Amino acid sequence: MLWTMGRVFGILGGMTSDRDFSGSSCPPPLDLVVVGSVGLDDIRTPAETRECVTGGAGTYACAAASFFASTGIVAVVGDDFDCDCESWLSRFGVDREGLARRPGRTFRWSGVYEDDFVNRRTLSTELGVFADFNPILPENYRKAGYLLLGNIGPELQWNVVEQARPDAFVAVDTMDLWINTQREALLRVIGRASLLTLNDAEARLLTGCHQLRDCAEALMEMGPPAVAIKKGEHGALLFTEEGISILPAYPVKRLSDPTGAGDLFAGACLGYLAARKAADRASILTGMVYGSVVASFGVESFGLDGLAELDMSSIEGRVAELREMSRC
Ligand code: AMP
Repeated sequence: MLWTMGRVFGILGGMTSDRDFSGSSCPPPLDLVVVGSVGLDDIRTPAETRECVTGGAGTYACAAASFFASTGIVAVVGDDFDCDCESWLSRFGVDREGLARRPGRTFRWSGVYEDDFVNRRTLSTELGVFADFNPILPENYRKAGYLLLGNIGPELQWNVVEQARPDAFVAVDTMDLWINTQREALLRVIGRASLLTLNDAEARLLTGCHQLRDCAEALMEMGPPAVAIKKGEHGALLFTEEGISILPAYPVKRLSDPTGAGDLFAGACLGYLAARKAADRASILTGMVYGSVVASFGVESFGLDGLAELDMSSIEGRVAELREMSRC
């Protein structure tokens, strides 16, 4: 399994970009570019409450992708931001040339989980400096063949699409806030998607359908040839023209914090595809297996803690276990 230079150098270095460009004036193109929120979360789960946790959809997705592929982040933080989140990204070897710092407040989200760890209420979302962020992508970001438009406003997602390779593989994630408030802009982004990942409630909200099969059909009519519908602890479904696949979730022994599970899932799946330059159905399905496994490690601990000591051999071990468990 691949360990990118980025991840190896990230553990040693503290530079803006941890990859090794020695002997070359121009950094090589990244495998994968992720746009998504980077910020601070206040989270209450039945197990624990923590404030000011390093979070954001972009942070989770990049951390997961970095196990497989060289990954760069497009995001912005405010001048109130201390270095904790950046040091997380550096630890995972994520390229941070696309991470801007602007005067103003950093993205902040707070949420509370009910006793089932499934239903979650957003208490507040402050976009802060993301509200009018206009990124200019570095040259080696523009050449990446894979793009993950993680959860953030669809106008910003589109801005990144316009600067990317026209033939890039584009995965799109979103959430109820954007479905409810920026539907038209979101539909334009979804129209460009090669793969759409949504949870079951979001799929129903976006399409107005109830049965997930009907939701997937309606979503594919919007543009994406592949739709992954996530169902939390019940796994995920992949829909393409060729058929439907059912993927179980790894049954974790302990649940601590489900925040970011969807972003870890999408990040690992895209990292897997980008590292192999693959876009076929079988590879997407294998990417989803890695996505489920990385997410399972994430939810066992709070915030990103579950990924801090994670290595490829533990990931491969759990992938083998999941495959064995789901033989029927
Ligand atoms: P998930 O649990 O997969 O939905 O991801 C939760 C993460 O997404 C948290 O770290 C939040 O900071 C981030 N997040 C929550 N709401 C939004 C939003 N409206 N836009 C972008 N990121 C968000």
